[in-house]
Amino acid sequence: MKKIGILGGGQLGKMFIQNAVNYPVEIHILDPDENCSCKNLASSFTQGNFNDKQTVLDFAENLDVVGIEIEHVNTEALKELEKQGKTVVPSPDLLEVFQDKGFQKEFYSKNHLPTAPFYLIENGNELNLNKIQIPFVQKLRKGGYDGKGVQIIKSEEEIINVWNEPSVIEQCADIDKELAVIFAKNKNGEIAIFPTVEMVFNPELNLVDYLFSPAQTSSDVETEIQNIIKQFAHTIKSSGIFAVELFLNKNGSIWINETAPRVHNSGHATIEGNYLSQYDIMLRSLLNLPFASVENRCYSAMVNLIGAKENQGESYIKNIDKLTILNKTYLHWYGKKITKPGRKMGHVSVLGNSKEELEEKINFIKEHISVKAK
Ligand code: ADP
Repeated sequence: MKKIGILGGGQLGKMFIQNAVNYPVEIHILDPDENCSCKNLASSFTQGNFNDKQTVLDFAENLDVVGIEIEHVNTEALKELEKQGKTVVPSPDLLEVFQDKGFQKEFYSKNHLPTAPFYLIENGNELNLNKIQIPFVQKLRKGGYDGKGVQIIKSEEEIINVWNEPSVIEQCADIDKELAVIFAKNKNGEIAIFPTVEMVFNPELNLVDYLFSPAQTSSDVETEIQNIIKQFAHTIKSSGIFAVELFLNKNGSIWINETAPRVHNSGHATIEGNYLSQYDIMLRSLLNLPFASVENRCYSAMVNLIGAKENQGESYIKNIDKLTILNKTYLHWYGKKITKPGRKMGHVSVLGNSKEELEEKINFIKEHISVKAK
């Protein structure tokens, strides 16, 4: 039985294990949080810091394969594990590219993958309004997540807000839609590309509010996206699963915004909505097994269950009975004991025969279901 170790034990790891138990494998988890979502589901749980080289080396000593469910892990350890002959997915070199938004942007331009024009700065003094004009976007190269570490500078008065840290300065996109595509590659070079999904953001929290699949775009746009992703997949020399966020601009152009080298929030609905889920494809890429169809079974949507405002403490779902009465609706609770405003506590997937059918249910769920503190 192959022994797979995963760095990170949050909700992505939990959903990965829920699928992986159907295969003849053992899943071992390393996470700093003793109450993490995976703790009671894994073959073994090690509490420890995945950013610490020795901790990762010790964790992986008796494992065959090492994967990730978070990108901010110690790559020096992963390089050493590869040298020892273990399978590491994705390759540590590629992981380093995606750990840094500056390296990521350089990777896209070097490989002729479309992305917003940009330049890199070490500090605020290097801002150059001749290169990219206001409005522009500043993104910290490291440490940002869920929209934190990203700001749009809209006027000259706002320039005093520019962060004095290594950053990407990027042209503002004129966004029509925010889209995402998940693709995977195995060691044999086989590629699987999921249909494009469309994200709708919560403007207050800057988190995905809900998303649906397939995205409502023209067939020309879908073909162009699939071609960009194919080019991306052929460019990389690593197996793994990758979530690519894209902007469809109002002028019809498509830009890659950013890539996560792992399973992703935008792929949750693939559990019920697609013939194979992102978690099954992740497992196959770790084991170098062939892929099969990842097409949609029908229309699907995913709504995040986010900790309600002004609620901090032991969590519960308000009106869970109003949720479970709905047809073709599936709850995923991440098992986090404590809710905080804006914290991702779970999600709900919904299937249907039309986008309208999905929207009706999404609106109902958003109106009636919430995560609160007791
Ligand atoms: P994070 O890594 O925190 O998810 P992103 O780079 O995805 O950060 O940016 C968060 C959000 O900020 C995006 O989903 C988008 O809404 C907005 N954004 C990012 N880059 C641009 C851009 N160049 N133009 C306009 N909006 C942007």
